[in-house]
Amino acid sequence: MSSDLLDIDLHLSHDDFSLAVRASIDLGMTTAVFGPSGSGKTSLLRAIAGFDQPGHGHIRCGGETWFDSAAGINIPPHKRPVGYLFQEGRLFSHLNVSRNLHYAYERRRRDVQALRPDPVIDAFDLGALLTRQIRSLSGGERQRVALARTLISAPRLLLLDEPLAALDYNRKSDILPYLENLPERFAMPTLLVSHNIDEVTHLADQALSLKNGRVDRVGTVADLVDSLDLDTNTGRFDAAVLVEGSVIAQDPRLHLTHVDTGGPVLAVPGLPTVPNGERIRLRIRARDVAIALSRPQGLSIRNVIPGQITDLVVHTSIGAADLWIATEGPTLRSRITLASVEELDLTPGKTVFALVKSASIDS
Ligand code: ADP
Ligand code: MG
Repeated sequence: MSSDLLDIDLHLSHDDFSLAVRASIDLGMTTAVFGPSGSGKTSLLRAIAGFDQPGHGHIRCGGETWFDSAAGINIPPHKRPVGYLFQEGRLFSHLNVSRNLHYAYERRRRDVQALRPDPVIDAFDLGALLTRQIRSLSGGERQRVALARTLISAPRLLLLDEPLAALDYNRKSDILPYLENLPERFAMPTLLVSHNIDEVTHLADQALSLKNGRVDRVGTVADLVDSLDLDTNTGRFDAAVLVEGSVIAQDPRLHLTHVDTGGPVLAVPGLPTVPNGERIRLRIRARDVAIALSRPQGLSIRNVIPGQITDLVVHTSIGAADLWIATEGPTLRSRITLASVEELDLTPGKTVFALVKSASIDS
């Protein structure tokens, strides 16, 4: 269902919180539902799954109507072909891993083409865990089993509500690669709730961001990353650009990975497990990009990228300015003080060098 749409117009209220979301989401891509805690992300997913009934509106998925207040349609949750994964996957603790997975297969939806358990077991590296009891699994293993079970139940839409939130940092990085591979391996339309921009940039292509129960923006993840800023958010996020590139070389001795961004090659903190040729995304914060008028000598910064200033936006209230710099590859964004802008006489059209510390690049 690559060109299918999830078309929602829903209005729902809980006590003094109201959710009003109108959006048309392309199901050919993984979509992040992004926003601060309490912005309505879980409420939106629950309404799509049918656990909570909107006051009015409609929910249509790939041409099927799941809810339409005007037409009096409300398909119950167990008849909607969605796979819902909660923050902490819910498994049958009295069954072992294999029985949990096969139970899901036996109970799968017959109206949707199912994935057979074996390739899913394979994809999630669950072979060695099949005879284990659920309570003997670590949090990360449990979440892998829960995700596999959700897929095996034959959904047409996967709803993942902060699937990594309950895991600690190491467990998160264990499970992230499995989530990254989902779209390619199973072509399953997915809405992924997250309030973590790193997860969003890794896992999603487009983003719907919510603020106080309303749609703040819908667009590509690159647009989202570009729009996040100190003054528009909680302060935890920074203006940044998202840069795509291919890994071309590893430097294990210096713990660096070289990434071709379609022009400049960037050195980033080592990603030793990523094979050459693989495409990855890098997030480069504007405040980590400095500017020089000529190529500096004797500098610690690894990435020195020539380019031309295309735009300049002054933020007088914080004494800073953002510059956009077109390079042979991606456009970079730099946030520097107004004092520097004046001293270097930076204006659109000027040729400069963007300096990016390797250690500041998130991948
Ligand atoms: P998020 O997932 O973005 O953190 P939620 O959708 O869980 O946000 O919650 C949005 C708001 O709705 C919160 O203020 C929350 O307290 C409230 N809320 C959610 N579910 C209920 C409910 N069943 N009853 C009352 N209030 C609720
Ligand atoms: Mg939530």
